[in-house]
Amino acid sequence: MTRKTPRVLIARPMPPAVMARAETLFDVENRDNNAPMSGSEMRSALALYDGIMPTLGDRFTADIFAEFGRPRCKMLANFGVGYNHIDVAAARDHGVTVSNTPGAVTDATADIAMTLLLMSARRTAEGERLVRSGNWAGWHPTQMLGLHVSGKTVGIIGMGRIGQAIAQRCHFGFGMQVLYANRSHKEVDFPARQVSLTDLAEHSDIVVVAVPGGAETRHMIGSTFFNTMQDHAHFINIARGDVVDEAALIDALQAGRIGGAGLDVYEFEPEVPQALTRLDNVTLLPHLGTAALEVRTAMGMLALDNLQAFFDGETPPNAV
Ligand code: NAP
Repeated sequence: MTRKTPRVLIARPMPPAVMARAETLFDVENRDNNAPMSGSEMRSALALYDGIMPTLGDRFTADIFAEFGRPRCKMLANFGVGYNHIDVAAARDHGVTVSNTPGAVTDATADIAMTLLLMSARRTAEGERLVRSGNWAGWHPTQMLGLHVSGKTVGIIGMGRIGQAIAQRCHFGFGMQVLYANRSHKEVDFPARQVSLTDLAEHSDIVVVAVPGGAETRHMIGSTFFNTMQDHAHFINIARGDVVDEAALIDALQAGRIGGAGLDVYEFEPEVPQALTRLDNVTLLPHLGTAALEVRTAMGMLALDNLQAFFDGETPPNAV
C-alpha cells in the first residue's frame, strides 16, 4: 500500500538545499514570512498539516493546543536545539511529538560565545565605534585597556554540548582554567572543576551561560549572582535571554559592578532595552549563534530527518 504524502508546513524561508530536499519528501508549504507565527496561524497549521517545522518565536503554548483533542498535526520538528517556546508536555497530551536539532549547532554557537568573550574582555565593539566616530586620537600606552584573557578562569553555567565546546576552546586555545556549574557531573577529557553557582560567580574572570531556557532556568542568574562576581569579570550569555534577570544585569553594568557583558540573546527578544544600547560596557549581537549557511542547512536537514523518520513509523532521532 502506498502511503499518502505527508503535508508539511515549514515556518520560515530556509536555505535552498533544505527546501529542495523537503520537496522530494513531503507535500510542502513554505511560509514566506520571517516573523513568528501568530496564534491563529499556529492553530490553523495544527489543523491543516501532518507535520510542522517551527522555530524560535513560534510559541506553541498549552492554550494553542487546548482547542484540539488530537490535531491533524502529529509532529513538530523544531528548527533549533532550544525548544523552550514549545510546551512539550501539552504537545504530548495532544498526541504531538516534538524534536529538535542538537549537535548541528554546537561548534557555531561555541564560536559566537568566544567572539563575545573576546569582544567584551578586549572592548572591541567600543573600539570599533571609536574608529567609526572619527574621534580616535591614536595609540597610547593606556588607551582602552581591557581584560587579558589568556590564562584566566572561565566559569561555564550548563556544561552540555555547547558548554563543553566553549570549555574546550577556552582550555586548549587560551590556556584557561575551567570551572562549571551543571545539574549533573560531566566527564570531560581536559581539566574542568564542578563548583556551585556561587563559587563560580566568585572565582571566574569570565562567566558564560549555556543552559537551556524555560521555567526551570528562568532568572537563574540575578542580582545575587552579579553582586558575587568580581568587579573586573565579564558575563556572556549565548543561551536564552530569560535565564538572566535582564534588569539586574543592567543595574550591575550601570553601576560598574562587573567588567562588562556580551549578549547574543535577550529576555524580551527581539526587544533590546535602551538601557543596554546606551552602555559602552556591553556587546550586543542579534542572536547570531548559528548564523552560517552550512550550519542552518545542517539544522534544516536534521529537522527533515526527524520528520522523515516519524512519517516512516520510526522514532525520530532527536525526539525530546
Ligand atoms: P545541552 O547539551 O542539553 O546542554 C544543556 C546543559 O545545561 C546540560 O548539561 C544540562 O545538564 C544543563 N542544565 C539544564 N538545566 C539546568 C539547570 N537547571 N541547572 C544547571 N544545569 C542545567 O544543550 P546545548 O546543545 O548545549 O544547548 C544549550 C542551549 O543553548 C539551548 O537549549 C539553546 O537554548 C541555546 N542555544 C543558543 C543558540 C544561539 O543562537 N545563541 C544556539 C544554539 C543553542 P544535564 O546534562 O544534567 O541535563
